Amino acid sequence: MTRNRKKKLAIRAEAVDGSHARAARLHTSVPREILTAEIQDRLINAFTVEGWPVENDGFPEGGIWTGWLGPVWSMLTRPGGSDTEADPDDPDYYDLTTAPELTFIAPKSPIANGEAMALTLPGTTPLADVVRTVGEELGRTRAAKAGALATDTQCALCGDRYPATHLLPATDSDRLVLCPFCVFDGDVLGVHPLRLAHLIDDLTDQDIAAPAGWSAVTALLACAAGPNFTERLESGGPVPLPHWSDPGQVWVWLPPGDLPPALEGLGPGTSLDTLVSAVEAAHPDLRDRFRARTAAVQEEDEEDSDGATTRDYLVEQLWPAAICYAVSAATQFRERPGGTSPWHLLTDGFEEGNLAENFDQLDSTLDADSLGPVFTLSVGVPLIAEALGFDPDA
Ligand SMILES: [Zn+2]
Repeated sequence: MTRNRKKKLAIRAEAVDGSHARAARLHTSVPREILTAEIQDRLINAFTVEGWPVENDGFPEGGIWTGWLGPVWSMLTRPGGSDTEADPDDPDYYDLTTAPELTFIAPKSPIANGEAMALTLPGTTPLADVVRTVGEELGRTRAAKAGALATDTQCALCGDRYPATHLLPATDSDRLVLCPFCVFDGDVLGVHPLRLAHLIDDLTDQDIAAPAGWSAVTALLACAAGPNFTERLESGGPVPLPHWSDPGQVWVWLPPGDLPPALEGLGPGTSLDTLVSAVEAAHPDLRDRFRARTAAVQEEDEEDSDGATTRDYLVEQLWPAAICYAVSAATQFRERPGGTSPWHLLTDGFEEGNLAENFDQLDSTLDADSLGPVFTLSVGVPLIAEALGFDPDA
């Protein structure tokens, strides 16, 4: 090796060493700034990708980034600021190298019943771990709360026992309080869906163990509602939740324990949009099976007719609600082993007159006098449940 070449190698080796040393110095002596705006963005995105219904203000208020992740309230803050009301990314008030903190609270409105879940994680936790941990903790919390409920009040129609606050009036009268599976029964006269919508939101916002079936009632009302319904909800009380104008955002509790293959990988609950996509991807033939079954029912009912009718009774607008009923009933069946089987209640739980009255008040564009809505629900729900592997005869 020539001297020249030796020198070159020595210089190169020194350069490499030097850059390593500089990199090490950079790493140790200049701590990295962590921006809460970025964490909040990635947090919201991570839960959205996992199929949670998500709301996000898009700006910090009073030093806190807030998010609404299904039934969970998320807060992102940075500890140790000189003005805790300031934007947590403002270097005048915060040391931006201080790791932010994530807090997850459930229920969303803990004022009335307290925090059933309060989980704190470092803001630097990998987001896949955050989503998984929040989901697991939420499922555990709901199971613990649901297992400790005092069922001291009866549904006015089916007599099934629930905590008093879990039964709601579907009419003007507070005396007729119902479980979620009796709301559309033919014995309920003088329905008041606007009032019921607000009451369902109040209950599910405040109680992490509220009956899963209220999601299905929400889905049916929201799917059936006409374009003016949200406006009317607004004028009758607090700002309505987004699921009233976008039923895909309804939070649906999934059955605890083993999930059918179609729902595997989903958390303790999911958005109705995600649920519908998962069910339809796994069972693309559901609509054909529905049509075959309604055709068979019609043939039985119309033996004397000329047999020329091949009407399609599937009401697309209500199909997500039928999926929501099938899954929510399975959830209630597992969560309330001592209760009346929701499957039995669903046998004649959808009555034409009741639906027509509700649709009218919801400004619905659906034709309630046709058989479509009743068939979509009363034939569709057990059919979807069977396809998923639940037993609607249980
Ligand atoms: Zn009932």
